[in-house]
Amino acid sequence: MCKTAVRNHETSLWKARIDTSRDFELFKQIHPQMRLSSIWSVARVRPQSLALMKLLACLCCQRPPEQPVECHRCHLPCDIQIEHSLFECSLSDHVQERKDFTLTLVNFGSPLFELFRTLPNKTFLAYILGYIDDNLTNALDESHYPDFLTLCAKLCNDLC
Ligand SMILES: [Zn+2]
Repeated sequence: MCKTAVRNHETSLWKARIDTSRDFELFKQIHPQMRLSSIWSVARVRPQSLALMKLLACLCCQRPPEQPVECHRCHLPCDIQIEHSLFECSLSDHVQERKDFTLTLVNFGSPLFELFRTLPNKTFLAYILGYIDDNLTNALDESHYPDFLTLCAKLCNDLC
């Protein structure tokens, strides 16, 4: 009984607070739509990927700097290092890296490979950061998503 009493008491206090405070009206509408991030879902089913998933979480949550930062490779100013490394940096072979990465996606089936061949840069980035997984269900078997996102994280790790 003691094991659950504190939790039950705190839960009831929390419920009473969100039911009576107007500050939580928007939260109550959004909360049922919230789900665990793809990144943490992968880390849960593949604990060995935790370090790589933490890297993706850091990259996703990075606030763009107020002023451009210096690229650690070419020393030119850039806003987001990973985006710069993937699409702009003159000292990284980003075109070849993206091609090599996309070619490895053949292992997950041709729909995913074809999807990634035609993605705009921002969408490509959003997928490899695990920021979005929309429309991947049409191109990738859900059971392969952890392997896919781990591969994406390795690419990001190589570029950082
Ligand atoms: Zn650069």
